[in-house]
Amino acid sequence: MSRLVMKFGGTSVADVERIRNVAAHVKREVEAGAEVAVVVSAMAGKTNELVAWCKEAGSHFDNPEYDAVVASGELVTAGLLALVLKEMGLKARSWAGWQIPLITDDAHGSARIEKIDGRNLAEGFQRGEIAVVAGFQGLHASTNRVTTLGRGGSDTSAVALAAAIGADRCDIYTDVDGVYTTDPRVVPRARRLDKVSFEEMLEMASLGAKVLQERSVEVALMHKVRLYVRSSFDDPAHPRLGTLICDEEDIVEQQIVTGIAFS
Ligand code: ADP
Ligand code: ASP
Ligand code: MG
Repeated sequence: MSRLVMKFGGTSVADVERIRNVAAHVKREVEAGAEVAVVVSAMAGKTNELVAWCKEAGSHFDNPEYDAVVASGELVTAGLLALVLKEMGLKARSWAGWQIPLITDDAHGSARIEKIDGRNLAEGFQRGEIAVVAGFQGLHASTNRVTTLGRGGSDTSAVALAAAIGADRCDIYTDVDGVYTTDPRVVPRARRLDKVSFEEMLEMASLGAKVLQERSVEVALMHKVRLYVRSSFDDPAHPRLGTLICDEEDIVEQQIVTGIAFS
């Protein structure tokens, strides 16, 4: 049986209608026989709203209470998606970071993942349950505090989870249909790439291409996670695979310049 991590970003879960569309993508993979863990972001705009409230309250970025507030956005999406999946007749449950548990250091606001115990999720798979995981968040064990992984951190939650549960693939579903030579929203002539090497993706991400959080690419490279960037807006019945992030050797025709990133 194959095991899959599917991650959906903020635009893909912006309202309940879009969450239903996400559920249709998940249903397709479950019906094809995969064990699925879904990682979700907060609904579009929610994290910005929560951050603004923290600023208004006078909280500092490294404050554990900042993390307690901003981690809440992902909890809402995880619960809503689990509800919708159950409504469709599938078995599912939501997981907060601390329930898994996904253990991090105590760098509040940009915590690093130290360990993920995949056993609870695996027991859920045995029961035929889809795991719906709140991205972006973890637990610092000795202080018993919720942490967050930095903006865009659900990508890193997804890739690290894929490594921890030995997933065959990690699909990052977003609002573009893959990685382009540069940001396609800024440069309409940008070209979609079928494959990008881990190293090139790392450079693009570190230079401002926010399609993947830089740390997620580091984790994928380190643990050799098979990683795709693809669109959640494709028809769930006829999805395209998007862009594969892979080893340099797997790309036959290496070009000198792959892409341009900017911030
Ligand atoms: P999500 O909410 O799904 O995590 P993000 O907004 O974080 O999505 O990332 C997707 C966005 O990344 C795209 O809408 C696009 O504007 C931007 N982007 C920047 N550089 C690139 C690139 N080289 N290829 C594709 N998308 C890019
Ligand atoms: N919701 C968080 C953010 O907006 C994490 C993520 O979407 O990946 O940065
Ligand atoms: Mg993102």
